[in-house]
Amino acid sequence: MKIIKDIKELREFRKALACSVGFVPTMGALHQGHISLIKKSVKENEKTIVSIFVNPTQFLEGEDFEKYPKRVEADRKICELAGVDVLFMPEISDMYVSIEPTILAPTQKAYILEGLRRPKHFDGVLRVVLKLLNLTKPTNAYFGKKDAQQLYLIENLVKSLFLDTNIIPCEIVRDEMGLALSSRNTYLSESEKKEALKISKSLKIASKEIIKGNKSVKHLKGIMKEVLEPLKIEYIEIVNREFEAIDEIELKNSIILVACMVGSTRLIDNLWI
Ligand code: AMP
Repeated sequence: MKIIKDIKELREFRKALACSVGFVPTMGALHQGHISLIKKSVKENEKTIVSIFVNPTQFLEGEDFEKYPKRVEADRKICELAGVDVLFMPEISDMYVSIEPTILAPTQKAYILEGLRRPKHFDGVLRVVLKLLNLTKPTNAYFGKKDAQQLYLIENLVKSLFLDTNIIPCEIVRDEMGLALSSRNTYLSESEKKEALKISKSLKIASKEIIKGNKSVKHLKGIMKEVLEPLKIEYIEIVNREFEAIDEIELKNSIILVACMVGSTRLIDNLWI
């Protein structure tokens, strides 16, 4: 596996490839969720590039940019074992120049849910993803459904800017207790980890209700709230796959999304119905 930090070197490497290229962008501190994306890419493409870049423009003032977990050596081993061809780890000063065009995520879809609590977050996400896609020019790029709204906005970015990459959505990976894996789970104490299980439990209970035929969004949100309390709920929302509000679950076209504070850690999870 090659480790590339230099942008010029990555571009030269990419230019020399005349085969299918899979790309998995990450912020590092890799876990089984990331590994599932990487393995899918290795299986479906002749070459796989993984990036690790903690992107400053997607963090808001006061968020965890400075303390975001870093495990470079463990990440390198994970990528090597998974069959990655290039691990790309650029410097912030190389990814951003002093004068840049502004990239704004579409307001009606990027300033709701996550974007309402983290305004401008998706501007930063789309900006870095566009840069990374331009550098790696992948045939296929892999993104987790865990970040459902991000996935939607990236699909929209690629479609609207006519980028030549297939966006491949990947299933959410959970631990044996049901907690969705996240690099931020390392912030949780043992007791907070137990508390955090309420999040996936609330989604499971909602899905059981739907199987019973209870499709009212108001009803589902109510029972989820009961399961989640006393966690600090940031939102429980149920939308269709275009991220529009709905009153009734539309089977195969709905997403239930939750964001909660567990202690000082912000966690998100969702279920595609
Ligand atoms: P991050 O390093 O958090 O920016 O995540 C990099 C990619 O991994 C994103 O596409 C995430 O949606 C995806 N990802 C993160 N956690 C999970 C998970 N538990 N299951 C599946 N994909 C995930």
